[in-house]
Amino acid sequence: MRSEKHADDRTQKSVKAAQSSNYYCSQCGTKALRTNGQLLSAMPARSTGARVVDEGTALEGELLLEPLEGAQPALIKREKGTERQYRLACRSCAAVIAYRSVPQPTAGMFLYVDPAAVRETPPTQQEMLEQRLRRQQQQAEA
Ligand SMILES: [Zn+2]
Repeated sequence: MRSEKHADDRTQKSVKAAQSSNYYCSQCGTKALRTNGQLLSAMPARSTGARVVDEGTALEGELLLEPLEGAQPALIKREKGTERQYRLACRSCAAVIAYRSVPQPTAGMFLYVDPAAVRETPPTQQEMLEQRLRRQQQQAEA
């Protein structure tokens, strides 16, 4: 499980993607998104603190989030009117991690990520165990 074992792989990958950064759900440790080396903390922020992420260029691989079920979009009152937020949640624990102002990824539009909802540390063994149990439960319910 420790990444040191794959030091050679890592060296080769690091040539292509300078240092892609993984972000995990801060609640349960499930992988949420991966950037192409840019740090969320280095991306521009909205006045609300959400990081502005260009899905077309800043992310690597697919976004590992799911649209939140229930009332979509969320309507947030702002000084200049009402803002629509199509919320994306952790696949495992349904914590809201990000949102878009449109239902689908769209060129010229952005993904907004709550920096408090993600962390850079991978899941602990306990969290991996809980994830597995949750998945088994979901499969049993399906
Ligand atoms: Zn989660």
